[in-house]
Amino acid sequence: MRISIIGAGPSGSYAAFLLANQGHDVHVFEEHASIGNPVQCTGIVTHAIWDLIPKNDSIIKLELDKVKIHAPNGTTVDFALKEFILDRAGLDKYIAQLAKKAGATYHLNHKFAGFDGTNIRVRHNGKEQTFPSDITIGADGPTSEVAKAADIWVPRKVWGGVQATIQGNYDQTAFDVFFGEEFKDFFAWVVPESKTLARIGIASEHKARDMFEHITKVYPGKLVGWQSGPIPIYDKNIPVQNKEHTVFLVGDAAGLVKATTGGGIITGMLSSKILAASIASDKDYAKALKPLRKDLGWHWLIRRTLNTFTDKDYNKLVNYMDSQKLQQLLKTHPRDFPTQFITKLFFVQPRFALFATNFIKQLLLPRSGVSNG
Ligand SMILES: Cc1cc2nc3c(=O)[nH]c(=O)nc-3n(C[C@H](O)[C@H](O)[C@H](O)COP(=O)(O)OP(=O)(O)OC[C@H]3O[C@@H](n4cnc5c(N)ncnc54)[C@H](O)[C@@H]3O)c2cc1C
Repeated sequence: MRISIIGAGPSGSYAAFLLANQGHDVHVFEEHASIGNPVQCTGIVTHAIWDLIPKNDSIIKLELDKVKIHAPNGTTVDFALKEFILDRAGLDKYIAQLAKKAGATYHLNHKFAGFDGTNIRVRHNGKEQTFPSDITIGADGPTSEVAKAADIWVPRKVWGGVQATIQGNYDQTAFDVFFGEEFKDFFAWVVPESKTLARIGIASEHKARDMFEHITKVYPGKLVGWQSGPIPIYDKNIPVQNKEHTVFLVGDAAGLVKATTGGGIITGMLSSKILAASIASDKDYAKALKPLRKDLGWHWLIRRTLNTFTDKDYNKLVNYMDSQKLQQLLKTHPRDFPTQFITKLFFVQPRFALFATNFIKQLLLPRSGVSNG
């Protein structure tokens, strides 16, 4: 079968790798001239990524042992976690390399422009070309042109992610996150990539730039890089396929991002894995996505609950996170998949029950988009 994949990000190239391995004639179309650029990401992932692709030390910038969580009142808690800071452009190139080895063909500097019957239309060096396509996969990020051309686009909310690489003197064993009303509807982060460089950023549905200026005042080093971009807010109502089952969406194009952290690398690649398995077994992709959607639904509910928090609530939350039992639980269960640990949370930290009212209120609200409390 001839399969066209639009977008050579992690979701697109991972789908290409799996489908080429199944023996399909896979073509990846990427609008940029080089894979992985420009970078619009912090590149932080859990070890769950190595269940999908072979571990590759050359794309790991740092392995961190903990996250330092900052409460609005200035107290901090060191929370033990195993996280990887990746060279994001390196990750995209690495997965594309795996896909090419499996037999996929890459067309760089080719921008998807629409459908023409069973062909796709692509712009290359100012000229339009057509390519035959039995199946087309939209892995083209949060503003997916494939979704629009296939008439399965629904309006979606996004967070603006704003991040800079800033010189300084950083702890290479930990990354920092800052909670509080000041960083309304998300959090700020300081993620080292070496002793002298860190990725410092903020995401928000509103005024991310103002909040970013505020956080960078605390880290006044020289700005040496700039990465920003939209992060889709998970919404279970985003369609992932057309009626004919000839067009499918994966990753950010389908809004499959964790609403707690804005992380979408692993969940995007997982959606590609689920799609490749569905194509192999002629099963319904939307149905097969349900377990992943369940996890993303939990992330979304936790995010909605957090977005109701006052500074006082955040101070309590950070204090409650200083628990060995809680840290042990999250060490053994990657935070990507809350269904594996959500009910256990209340056993290891019963004081979380104090937030039950906030949680239940959000549970009862209509299930679309993320409220700001
Ligand atoms: C500031 C910021 C920080 C982030 N930090 C993290 C993090 O630490 N960890 C994490 O897991 N996630 C993070 N994310 C989210 C993460 O970057 C995305 O979820 C992830 O990149 C999704 O991968 P994807 O392959 O689905 O889409 P993308 O990586 O967006 O890839 C889409 C590809 O499609 C191409 N494309 C688009 N339109 C067309 C077209 N018409 N024709 C051809 N090609 C096209 C693009 O050029 C791109 O290469 C962050 C996002 C932002 C904005």
